[in-house]
Amino acid sequence: MSTKTSILLVEDEENLHDALKLNLELEGYEVTSSFTGSDALQKVQGEYFDLIILDVMLPELDGITVTETIRVQNNEVPILILSAKNASSDRVLGLKKGADDYLTKPFNLEELLLRVQKLINKNKKMQDKDTVGDTYTFGNNTLDFKAQEATTRKGERIQLSKKEAMLLKLLIENKNEVVPREKILQTVWGYNVYPTTRTIDNFILNFRKYFEEDSRNPQFFHSVRGVGYKYSE
Ligand code: CA
Repeated sequence: MSTKTSILLVEDEENLHDALKLNLELEGYEVTSSFTGSDALQKVQGEYFDLIILDVMLPELDGITVTETIRVQNNEVPILILSAKNASSDRVLGLKKGADDYLTKPFNLEELLLRVQKLINKNKKMQDKDTVGDTYTFGNNTLDFKAQEATTRKGERIQLSKKEAMLLKLLIENKNEVVPREKILQTVWGYNVYPTTRTIDNFILNFRKYFEEDSRNPQFFHSVRGVGYKYSE
């Protein structure tokens, strides 16, 4: 989980884009560039980001529509919108459609960096809310994350791989919430681009075999088609 904080920067004015990218990188963020609304949406669907900086006036799809689409897809990534001067209707609409904050152009760079940091911290705090300890019991199963072991409801003791233990922990920390597959891949596998989700599917199938009473009718480990996976109790 030592990956850098990643930001998707969506801005079509090249000079501003380059200046922002440089400054964000100097702050230690990993910045992915996007110059159109439709490209931004594509990137959001393929990768996990900690924050999106999103201009409103963009070619193809505007930032408001991009925001709305991201939220409709149940993605809660923090979004900071950049609106044109005096376009207060853009700000209101952006916030209404699910943006977390906004800045009006031209803005002060220091202020942008502060807001970026604030949004990222807030989001991290929320994600950390259900930190689980070294062991966890559900049903009649007990997990020991540190020892990478589990005792199943049948009393069987099984050794977990490191990735199995990490995925179990991630899902349980987000109990009753869908964890997007992009986030799983980034957290457990630690890379941003990947060809298939079958890998995660296989892990989930194993979890069901180990821990579910009826693996065809799972009580704990659910896949949410096209979105991700959910642990529920
Ligand atoms: Ca623009």
